[in-house]
Amino acid sequence: MSHALTLIPGDGIGPEVTTAVVRILDAVGVAIDWDRQDAGVIAFRKSGQTLPGELLDSIRRTRVALKGPCATPIGEGFTSVNVGLRKALDLFANLRPVSNLPGVPSRFTNVDLVIVRENTEDLYAGLEHVIVPGVVESLKIITEVASTRIAEFAFRHATREGRRSVTAIHKANIMKLSDGLFLDSVRAVSRKYPQIPYDEKIVDAACMHLVMRPEQFDVLVLPNLYGDIVSDLCAGLVGGLGVVPGANLGTDVAVFEAVHGSAPDIADQNVANPTALLLSAVMMLRHLGEVDAAVRVKAALDRVLSAGEVRTRDLGGSASTTEFTLALCRALD
Ligand code: ATP
Repeated sequence: MSHALTLIPGDGIGPEVTTAVVRILDAVGVAIDWDRQDAGVIAFRKSGQTLPGELLDSIRRTRVALKGPCATPIGEGFTSVNVGLRKALDLFANLRPVSNLPGVPSRFTNVDLVIVRENTEDLYAGLEHVIVPGVVESLKIITEVASTRIAEFAFRHATREGRRSVTAIHKANIMKLSDGLFLDSVRAVSRKYPQIPYDEKIVDAACMHLVMRPEQFDVLVLPNLYGDIVSDLCAGLVGGLGVVPGANLGTDVAVFEAVHGSAPDIADQNVANPTALLLSAVMMLRHLGEVDAAVRVKAALDRVLSAGEVRTRDLGGSASTTEFTLALCRALD
């Protein structure tokens, strides 16, 4: 049976890393019928919209998308494509597993944690206005419904995947009402899961503990903004943005995308590392029930990285995106 899926190449390094991943998925033999859709700057040039209705219709139809990063033009009137997509499809949970990969140099060897980021509100609500020239107000929206929903997701994920603990990250000592509500909501959910050890950390202290002893963390549940920042910090613990995958999940729609952005500084040079998007695709294969293919792709990736002969520049090598992709295709059993 062929899977009908949406493919969003995106901007910057997006087309290069999506091409690489599509090639590897093809080589592993999973039958996929891709519906290619533009988003971001490329879409804006063609249709005047960064998030065309056709794209949303496609994902609503296929329910599963693989997405490259999308740049948002800077300036008034442009809302982030990524934020817009998450809101339009109510992709409320952003799941980002962060763990060491064999052969990938990093400061730590024992990182295995999962970021569960609330994806729909917080300062990402985009509600900003000028009160008087020189004074701007930006609204941080936190609701009990969204906080409870992401907490339920985190505890369900921890239970299903046999994780060790859940830690809520917050700044409720300062933002007593907003982060206070987030924390109260997570606490209420934690009481329904007495078998899962639960604790809380203030975000600044959490950052320090993460860069000193990351092995003490397991599932982290965070409001949107802290989730964004802590995700990049955690990527730095295991080799950088080139290797950390993610999934945006709603009730019945899933969009798989890497943590990294469009990296315009290295776009169109055939040097981007497709590993983060490839690992996102491995998550997607599992979501589709293609477990055997997921295992084979991950094993091929581990083999290529462990051998260390073909590595992209961000991991200290000199291989191009294409050379790395071909090495992966050859390493598939
Ligand atoms: P955003 O605001 O969307 O997060 P950004 O410009 O802050 O975007 P990224 O685009 O995620 O950040 O990338 C930051 C830097 O990390 C890039 O400039 C690039 O050098 C490096 N980088 C990111 N992704 C990759 C990748 N897949 N391969 C190699 N290097 C990468």
